[in-house]
Amino acid sequence: MPVFDHPEFDQHESMHFVQDVETGLQAIIAVHSTALGPAAGGCRRWQYASDLDALTDALRLSRGMTYKNAIAGLRFGGGKSVILASDKAPKSPELFHAFGRAVDGLGGTYITAEDVGCSVEDMRFVKEQTDFVSGLPRSGDEAGGDPSPMTAIGVCQGIEAAVAFRLGKDSLDGIRIAVQGVGHVGLHLCRLLHEAGAQLVVADVNRENLKLASDELPVTVVPPAKLLFADVDVLAPCALGNVLTSQTIPKIKAKIVAGAANNQLATEADGARLAERDILYAPDYVINAGGIINVAHEYYGGSSEEEVRNEIARIPQRLEKIFNEAKASKQPTNVIADEVARRIVANAGDNPPVAA
Ligand code: NAD
Repeated sequence: MPVFDHPEFDQHESMHFVQDVETGLQAIIAVHSTALGPAAGGCRRWQYASDLDALTDALRLSRGMTYKNAIAGLRFGGGKSVILASDKAPKSPELFHAFGRAVDGLGGTYITAEDVGCSVEDMRFVKEQTDFVSGLPRSGDEAGGDPSPMTAIGVCQGIEAAVAFRLGKDSLDGIRIAVQGVGHVGLHLCRLLHEAGAQLVVADVNRENLKLASDELPVTVVPPAKLLFADVDVLAPCALGNVLTSQTIPKIKAKIVAGAANNQLATEADGARLAERDILYAPDYVINAGGIINVAHEYYGGSSEEEVRNEIARIPQRLEKIFNEAKASKQPTNVIADEVARRIVANAGDNPPVAA
């Protein structure tokens, strides 16, 4: 399995391959950059088709975290971990203890939290072994807890900014939005979009999650295979990555792609494919930063939920700046966002991070 030669290796500072024989834990911790602070990014537990797929996911996600944290102005570098889910390694407190010990062994170079397949409960077990974890149950008005609602708030505000920019409308009233995946973020997002008057089309491969959404909200359910190509104004990917490809993009009817999922573009060139079709793409790591903003405030302590919400409210302005720069320079939005993020990291020096 190639590591240093992997096409996504980029400039990763370190990779850590973790195995615990007793619990069956197999995990990869990727530290992309600590230029702006400890490498922070959630832990994903997923059943990968191969070890190589897990490695690729970890590498792409951790670089995305560097860019996300930089643009959000956080005192965090970028990292990510993946736990390889399998029947031999079922979820258990012991499995997360073993993972926590691995995180602790990195001495604060990497800070973890929940991502797809992990919950606040799981992070409590991690916390029993290390302090380098966030996304724990919150107390009172302090920032913290499940980051998903905060991610959804930022995504909703980002969709409003994209709708204003691309469709010239100052409200989501009557806007048709397709949400792929109604899990932790997707369901919260649907609630917010519904409150704002949007008409929702949803799909999920998990029937329980789909039922929760359709029991609570007036949504049109479509088969997962049709969701990306629904006749809507906005497509909001909120499941997994690699959904925007040379195969899918030509069939997308939405004028805007703006959602929570990480790594929505299969390749950088897919950003250009969207731009060629005049589909406005809200760079995923810019629009979905609400959760890590919450995690950062929890980790560093002393913040209220209101302060977190005020920080998240800056996401639309960041997107507008990127949309305008992309339009002026005739470049895809993902290219502009990558440039901004890389500039912030390169200029890190001794200066504290400044939000884009
Ligand atoms: P989740 O696991 O709770 O929800 C994902 C949902 O997508 C699940 O219901 C799953 O069944 C569904 N799904 C998977 N494949 C699908 C498919 N092909 N079609 C339709 N539905 C499908 O995860 P989450 O925490 O809601 O995160 C969703 C995405 O947002 C992920 O890419 C995650 O990395 C990203 N993200 C999450 C946060 C956060 O705060 N949780 C923050 C930033 C980014």
